[in-house]
Amino acid sequence: MSPLPVARAEIVVDLAAIRHNVRTLRELTGVPMMTVVKADGYGHGMVEVARAAREAGSEWVGVATIDEALALREAGDTGRLLCWLTVPGEDHAAAIAAGIDVTAYSLAELHEIEDAAGVVGRPARLQLKVDTGLSRGGAPMSTWSDVVAAAAAGERDGTWTVTGIWSHLAASDEPDHPANDAQEAVFRDALDVAEAAGLRPEVRHLANSAGAILRPSARFDLVRVGLASYGLDPAPGHTPDLGLRPAMTVRATLAQTKPLAAGASVSYGHTWTAETDTTVGLVPVGYADGVPRHASNVAQVLVDGKRRAIRGRVCMDQFVVDLDGDLPAPGHDVVLFGPGRDGEPTAQDWAEASGTISYEIVTRVGGRMTRRYVDK
Ligand SMILES: *Cc1c(COP(=O)(O)O)cnc(C)c1O
Repeated sequence: MSPLPVARAEIVVDLAAIRHNVRTLRELTGVPMMTVVKADGYGHGMVEVARAAREAGSEWVGVATIDEALALREAGDTGRLLCWLTVPGEDHAAAIAAGIDVTAYSLAELHEIEDAAGVVGRPARLQLKVDTGLSRGGAPMSTWSDVVAAAAAGERDGTWTVTGIWSHLAASDEPDHPANDAQEAVFRDALDVAEAAGLRPEVRHLANSAGAILRPSARFDLVRVGLASYGLDPAPGHTPDLGLRPAMTVRATLAQTKPLAAGASVSYGHTWTAETDTTVGLVPVGYADGVPRHASNVAQVLVDGKRRAIRGRVCMDQFVVDLDGDLPAPGHDVVLFGPGRDGEPTAQDWAEASGTISYEIVTRVGGRMTRRYVDK
């Protein structure tokens, strides 16, 4: 028998953790759940995460682009599915034909969707996004009554069914930020305008992970939960302990270990110098694999049961860790981050060390790493 292949570096995703998180969040919020699986499931694998989320009772799945939504349909997902980010000329017809809910931000987009529904010969499932203060995508309140009137007219003539009206929060991770109350008030006004125009959508939704957890009044008919489904904390310092389980572990295999003499400097630019004799290990992943270069000299990994500091700069394909005099054999396991149960750092630790958020840590990791699924 040939030996088990050893992955040089891999992302291990625990699908049982995803199901646990989706169930926990669904029970907590008490409203239907949309699990957000855009950006390849925040780096966890879009198709596999969507399947796990459906198994755990997620009524909806959300993605950014039509391409992502079509890929889910191709993989066999048949449930309620919303996408929300297009540019002019995208293939709305394919989305309509696949029963995907599309989102319009403007009259121009409504016209494109109308044409596409005509081509397909069946009504679109249409959601409208109103900009309540994030000032990102969505219809500004100055155009909202026109957008709503056009949507109502299209519904009357059978072009589409308006299935949802929604918006997105700017500061849900800061529960006391005044934008939360302000946006919720604008959203309620926008819903009144839509209702007055005769729209009766299936779902009205505003909250992402932090909004869903921290702001019951923002839950409406549906919550769009991304980060928390992956077991990560959407509002560090504010989120109560919900027992969510981080689903992603990133591990690598130690490529080399060796002694390093006091006075020797490590990696490009020699930004770290050994003050005493020590030992170092070579970890075969770098910024081309999504390891942030900002983690240079600040983040830690777990080797042989101990936290080890990154020394010197993270390179494209590799970085060096301080083994503090230990000399484990090459082939040893290196855990960059995981749930944190065995002493390894978490994605949140890496985010804090690198000056970013855990969203970016898990989403960017990849490159040449392979992905493996477990179900613990
Ligand atoms: C990404 C995204 C979400 C999910 O946000 P989380 O903070 O990860 O829960 C929800 N809604 C929209 C519109 C998004 O773009």
